[in-house]
Amino acid sequence: MHDASNHRIVCAAAGLALAFAAATASAGVVDGTHEPLVRVCFVGDAITKKPEDVAFVWQHLKTFENHGNIRFVMMENGGRCPPPRLSSDGRFDINDGDLRIGIPGTLDYDGKTPITGLRLGRGCADPGATPWWSNFPGNKDKPEFRACRLTTFVRKEMRLNKILHELGHAVGMYHEHERTDVPMSDPKVATCFRDVKYFGKSIAPGAPGITHVTPYDRDSVMHYEINHRIDPTNVPAASTCNLGNDNGNTGLSTLDQLSIRIMYPHDRRVAEARGPRIVAVGDLVTFRNEWGALGGLVAHTVKNPAWLVSHGNTRVVEQNSPDFAFRFTLPGSYAVRYRFNDARGRDYVSSFTLQVLAPERLRGHHGALTAARAALF
Ligand SMILES: [Zn+2]
Repeated sequence: MHDASNHRIVCAAAGLALAFAAATASAGVVDGTHEPLVRVCFVGDAITKKPEDVAFVWQHLKTFENHGNIRFVMMENGGRCPPPRLSSDGRFDINDGDLRIGIPGTLDYDGKTPITGLRLGRGCADPGATPWWSNFPGNKDKPEFRACRLTTFVRKEMRLNKILHELGHAVGMYHEHERTDVPMSDPKVATCFRDVKYFGKSIAPGAPGITHVTPYDRDSVMHYEINHRIDPTNVPAASTCNLGNDNGNTGLSTLDQLSIRIMYPHDRRVAEARGPRIVAVGDLVTFRNEWGALGGLVAHTVKNPAWLVSHGNTRVVEQNSPDFAFRFTLPGSYAVRYRFNDARGRDYVSSFTLQVLAPERLRGHHGALTAARAALF
């Protein structure tokens, strides 16, 4: 219970900051740095006083690296955050390090001040400052975004999903249970929407700074566990609302993983699509955007899609939707090019060859394949 209430405090602070961020930025997804390299440090005496907690948090932070082009590097000095310096106008502490992690039960640089929450540092609680790191590359170096000593507050005793939840905020993920596009057709969702004032009412698709990249996901680590037992203040005793996953130990959900993949693309950005490479004349040929095939919301994440299919120097067909569908009437070797921009304007491109065969030739291919496979048994 202590963990749960503590967690709520942390997230309340985060929610405020993200709302502020959303109101002032033009950037996408759930926000966050979107820069592949993130410099991490631990605040105060955490490295020496709570080495097990530090190791535990670091280990789970690294799991984000499995799902996108994001790399966490421990800062010099063994990962200990350097003491802040003062901004030139004297209003703010300037803290180095992109992700500054505070561990409960540790002390600040002065050796006296306990690390108890997010709002620590000169100017950290001022209007316009954010006690959270989930802001944008363009703003990251403004003094007011570096005023707070720590940007996330976690410890080993928290459940795995809670730690991933807090770190998820740090890479730019919002609360799943606050999004306004939850499907009301699900009775469980409708119950929570009716009974819980914060459920499903504040993070709207298309609002400035916000892009919903995947559908509503009750298994996300970014979804609070919401029921009367865990939150008696906001969930009435009579409510059957019981959703969410941040108290679990399941790790990043499939859609959490996809979100990170979409938010943090590799430097060589490939417009990935699923579909055949050899078809018959007259077949309906479809190529699906890979993010969409994996369950992502391509209407929000795939901008300016352009399919161009050529045969020699002749343009055969152009389409401007995330997916492609067409029937070819002539056999031949076709060059397919697919491009789009993501929600942040980054460009993606890919090219491949599509072979369109006369139907009897394609049957010949299949026959040859079958024969080749049969020979393997
Ligand atoms: Zn949260």
